[in-house]
Amino acid sequence: MSLQCPRCHSSKVASFHHAMKIGAAIGTVGGAARGVSAALAGGQAGALIGAFAGPVGITLGSVSGAIFGGLAGGVGGCALGAQLGESLDRHVLAHNLCLLCGHHFNLPA
Ligand SMILES: [Zn+2]
Repeated sequence: MSLQCPRCHSSKVASFHHAMKIGAAIGTVGGAARGVSAALAGGQAGALIGAFAGPVGITLGSVSGAIFGGLAGGVGGCALGAQLGESLDRHVLAHNLCLLCGHHFNLPA
């Protein structure tokens, strides 16, 4: 993707992605929180499945269910937050700077 300054049509444009990072951070935290509840649910589901295989199965099922749930929640939240931050970054905050004329601009929504 190449940016172009709307004022002087130069392609020497610096683009900052603060919002994307903030969004990703928020998403990671939210995703981790969601992942904890997913981990609990995953652990329970894993324990249920593992119950068929006996005591060892319960432990293995709980642990793997919790790890999988937590990971899925964290990764999903991070991706979601990054997407949110990126659209904020592109359409709301003036984070593109033309290096030729110094014009700050957003991409059209
Ligand atoms: Zn310019």
